Amino acid sequence: MFRYMIANFALLTAFLFLFNHLFRGYLMKDHRTLRFKLLIGIMHGCCALFLLLFSYQVNGTSFIDFRHIVVISSAYFGGLPASLVTVVFFVFGRVTLMETFTPLLTSIMPLFSITLAAIGSGMIMRIVKSYSLRWLLSVLLSMTLITVVSLLRGITNDTYSYLAFVGLGGLFTASLIAFFSTTNQLTIQLEHSERKYRSLHALQEAIFQSAVGTAIVAFDYQGEITHANKGAEKMLGYRSDELIGKASPLIFHDANEVETYGQELSEKIGKPVHGINVFFYGASEHVSEAREWSYIRKDGARLTVLMTLSPLLLDGKMVGVIGSATDISERKKMEDQLKQLSLLDGLTKIANRRFFDEMLKHEWEHAMQHQTGLSLLFFDIDHFKAYNDLYGHQAGDDCLRKVTSIAKKALNHPAATFARYGGEEFTVILPAMSTGQAVQMAENLRLSIENAAIPHNGCMKNVITVSIGVSICYPDANSAPEELIAKADEALYYSKWHGRNRITNYKEIPTKASNTSTL
Ligand code: GH3
Ligand code: MG
Ligand code: MG
Repeated sequence: MFRYMIANFALLTAFLFLFNHLFRGYLMKDHRTLRFKLLIGIMHGCCALFLLLFSYQVNGTSFIDFRHIVVISSAYFGGLPASLVTVVFFVFGRVTLMETFTPLLTSIMPLFSITLAAIGSGMIMRIVKSYSLRWLLSVLLSMTLITVVSLLRGITNDTYSYLAFVGLGGLFTASLIAFFSTTNQLTIQLEHSERKYRSLHALQEAIFQSAVGTAIVAFDYQGEITHANKGAEKMLGYRSDELIGKASPLIFHDANEVETYGQELSEKIGKPVHGINVFFYGASEHVSEAREWSYIRKDGARLTVLMTLSPLLLDGKMVGVIGSATDISERKKMEDQLKQLSLLDGLTKIANRRFFDEMLKHEWEHAMQHQTGLSLLFFDIDHFKAYNDLYGHQAGDDCLRKVTSIAKKALNHPAATFARYGGEEFTVILPAMSTGQAVQMAENLRLSIENAAIPHNGCMKNVITVSIGVSICYPDANSAPEELIAKADEALYYSKWHGRNRITNYKEIPTKASNTSTL
């Protein structure tokens, strides 16, 4: 008997393994269709037929096997419809396969008992929710029915062994199915998370590659490039296989710039930061703001990029750095041009008033520091309103350009700053010059313009002339650039009031009381 029961155990285990394997997907679903329940019943029915072949024959009409466990399993997976179908299979097998069947009470009783076990288990599975209790009650029901049948047919020693086998077999099967179901759940979870991981990876890859306007380069602690997207290929002119696994990001960085940033960081954190570590420190903690860097393309061309360094984290640990850079070279160029434009006068293309103000401040500080003199010339075209009235505004503009060009040549001094102060009024800053030199420069200027002989029939000389005011000082903490301007302006107007086409040094203006000349 022991051998038969072991064979039953083995068969049942193999069946459950196969069944779980084949129907794992369906078994994980909460709702099962009637068709599937009937299929479960048929499968278990087939298993019951197999078990019949390995039944232990107690006497002429009595056979014992694991039919009850199969029926309980069928009820567990497919409820009452499945357990009933399994029983039909079993009854059919018992009647046809076993030659010893006689329509006696002794043969019908076990069939009746297994039918009751099927109905009971089906009901238990529907009513009871706890897994262990379901199996416990179903196994106890089967054991009770076996006991009743045995009592009616006369208990033998085999009955006790049989009951023990059914009890143990029930527990074993319950554990096996629980194990399968846990494994199924884990497998499905694993499949699910793997699918999720793969789709996430595909998504990341798509985002990584689709950012064609952004160069994304990742590198590890050794500085070896591990990732480079299409944007990086395009921006740097390297193929990704020339970068990944072969190069360090230093090949497309300006070494001096990296070292300068390294020094900046070293001062900040109080320990030396060099080479590739500059990026690692730059990516860590609070310093990962975008900053301007230079990239050097494979063909040697230089780009200005705005790069953000971020840490590449694995399980919360930094394993590398990701640099995402956008090319701002064009923007930079435009900005520089704009900056230049905002400091240039549109008509004459020389420095404008804003540039003059900045430059005067700068030269003032410089002169103060080095205790040198600072001179300022103010000059204004004589009778220019009349010129406009005579020749038109367009000709007036041309005249302004001509005067500018002549003055530029006359003031050919590397330290001089020549600017259009406004209208037909110009100014020249002359740093570190003696009074004599500044006055001489002013005189050269006046003469050059007069000698250029730009016709102007609206004035005495019949040519364009300018009046000039000169002021010179030694800047100190008690004076301000505005005073220098005011004095040059006053000297200019002195020239205007004293006949025009002349220069006046502010220091030589006689006291206001004696200043009585007329136009
Ligand atoms: P003065 O000898 O006293 O300097 O007399 P003026 O006529 O030159 O001086 P005023 O300040 O009366 O006139 C300056 C004129 O310069 C008036 C203005 O129309 C002209 N002007 C200022 N800016 C421009 C410019 O950009 N283009 C032209 N065509 N004319 C300008
Ligand atoms: Mg004028
Ligand atoms: Mg004027």
